Amino acid sequence: MKVMKFGGTSVGKPERMRQVASLVTKGTEPAIVVLSALSGTTNSLVEISDHLSNGDRAKAKQCIDKLEAHYHSFIKELVKEKGPYEKAQAIVAEHFEFLNIILRISFSEALSKDILAQGELLSTKLFSTYLDEQGVDHLLLPALEFMVIDNYDEPKINDIRTRLNQLLRKYKNKKLFITQGYICRNSKGEVDNLKRGGSDYSASLIAAAVNASVCEIWTDIDGMHNNDPRIVKKTVPVEQLSFDEAAELAYFGAKILHPASIWPAQKFKIPVKLLNTMQPEAHGTLISEEAGSVGVKAVAAKDNIIAIRIKSSRMLLAYGFLRKIFEVFEKYRTPIDMITTSEVAVSLTIDSPVHLKEIIKELEPFGSIELDKNQTIISVVGNEIAQTNDMVKKLFGSIRNIPVRMVSYGGSPHNISLLVPAGYKTQILRQLNKGMFGLE
Ligand code: ASP
Ligand code: MG
Repeated sequence: MKVMKFGGTSVGKPERMRQVASLVTKGTEPAIVVLSALSGTTNSLVEISDHLSNGDRAKAKQCIDKLEAHYHSFIKELVKEKGPYEKAQAIVAEHFEFLNIILRISFSEALSKDILAQGELLSTKLFSTYLDEQGVDHLLLPALEFMVIDNYDEPKINDIRTRLNQLLRKYKNKKLFITQGYICRNSKGEVDNLKRGGSDYSASLIAAAVNASVCEIWTDIDGMHNNDPRIVKKTVPVEQLSFDEAAELAYFGAKILHPASIWPAQKFKIPVKLLNTMQPEAHGTLISEEAGSVGVKAVAAKDNIIAIRIKSSRMLLAYGFLRKIFEVFEKYRTPIDMITTSEVAVSLTIDSPVHLKEIIKELEPFGSIELDKNQTIISVVGNEIAQTNDMVKKLFGSIRNIPVRMVSYGGSPHNISLLVPAGYKTQILRQLNKGMFGLE
């Protein structure tokens, strides 16, 4: 069994969705196909939910109508025969009727999750209708019947495994399954989701649950690139990455893969392939236990970082100091990304400003606090890069003119992270592209 996940842009136009159908019917291996919502849909649903939470029903209604019109023109192009077309119309009508009913109910968090779930429900049902029209035998598996999360919003992998395999056992003669990415049920049994971009996570959890031969993530780019293609002119796809390298890149800014989607694949040793719907023959990127080669492979950038420096002479020769500091972050469930220490100071970074005020207040008794907002982490990732000759020299040689606020080296053998003011991001990514990869 393999898993194939297609993102919003891969199903965002009728012709692309038809192409997805041809890709999923090509192989002989049974497959579970995981779909995102059509591109733009989840953003619109977030907008609808925001208007409702602000009590602005008129604006919400406008957004609903606009989205509904989009779906009507989508299905007109997607399915041609009368029967399937009427079915597609009924699907669109059902989901928009639901949104229109919600307009009249008083808003709640739980209701907002129901709104957000409509995108994946629509895309999978419409895709299934198209497959019916093409006479492709398949089965729609409702993700809400097996994808479950706990009180802390963490997926319950054992339950997912049991439920999904139970479902699959019922349909032993089927070879093609379609299911929704992103959506799940929470511990209260309500409809919930795996957060924005979470369809990748769904795919990797499903791959882990069924012990898939591979988890293919299909997007609109031919794999993970060595640098951000939106910022530097020339980038090249990275052929092979280890799970550790991919995790660093995904976490530190490479947008192609949701960072949480690495762990299920890594834990259950499922290779992940990043592939391009527009260029299905392209090699893409293989992520597995093997790194493939030694040396620097890619750089990525993560924005909106806050650096906090705690300076205290009491830290000198003291023990337990770091623990006390970390406890503050633990209390506010705020992850720390980078950390560097000197004998009298600690610098660390966070990416969530949600509890910043409380955190600073609780850190104040430990010493003087300095805060630098609007920083960017630049992460240089590769295999055994610490042992690569001249790597550090090349790295710092190519960015001599850039004021680096923090450096983290040696935490893992795969990564060196630099913290710079956000204004230097473009410049540093370009200079590194030249200095580390010899690309303009
Ligand atoms: N549709 C969801 C989103 O846009 C999930 C996904 O596409 O991965 O965030
Ligand atoms: Mg995505």
